Amino acid sequence: MRTLVVDHPLVTHKLTALRDTASDTATFRSLTAELVTLLAYEATREIRVQPVSVTTPVGVARGVKLARPVPLVVPVLRAGIGMLDGMIQLLPMADVGFVGLRRDEESLIAETYADRLPADLTDRDTFVLDPMLATGGTLTTAISMLVARGAASVTAICLLAAPEGLRRVEEAFADDGTPGDPGVRVVTVTAAVDERLNERGYIVPGLGDAGDRLFGKI
Ligand code: URA
Repeated sequence: MRTLVVDHPLVTHKLTALRDTASDTATFRSLTAELVTLLAYEATREIRVQPVSVTTPVGVARGVKLARPVPLVVPVLRAGIGMLDGMIQLLPMADVGFVGLRRDEESLIAETYADRLPADLTDRDTFVLDPMLATGGTLTTAISMLVARGAASVTAICLLAAPEGLRRVEEAFADDGTPGDPGVRVVTVTAAVDERLNERGYIVPGLGDAGDRLFGKI
């Protein structure tokens, strides 16, 4: 399990604007899409490709194309949907699955209410979209679902992470040969790791409720 914090001035610039309470819904949506595309560029660095040759007007060039089966992108409902456009900009050929998880307020265990994933993910690179890695409960469950279906790799793309959540995911998918070792590459890519979680489980300073800022309070 690896964590990559993308250190790039454009990423920080867009994240700063995203955090700002002065950014309205339209601005928040477009900034999210732009930021996800930048994060996706780093998140796809190890995506599976196969060699090909193409004929140019003046000869033959060797290159690569994305390997089959095509990657699977999995937004976690609801806020992850706001990240889909930005991801598809970079991977327009990808399949898209969906996962919906809600936390049982008594047991604090994430319960699955939507599961639209292929049964078999053998040889597939998969990308989970979840804007806020807070406690890590949702992300841990979503990654486990993909590992259980045999994904070749799982890369989580999060706009922001809290240290507590990152620790939880890192412990859950430690590639150290222990029984919890997922046996596949699990990576988290984020624009920043913030200070902490507050008593309500919000990331501080964070950006507030990503779902509400993308889709409104409903
Ligand atoms: N989910 C959010 O939308 N924001 C947070 O700060 C934490 C979880």
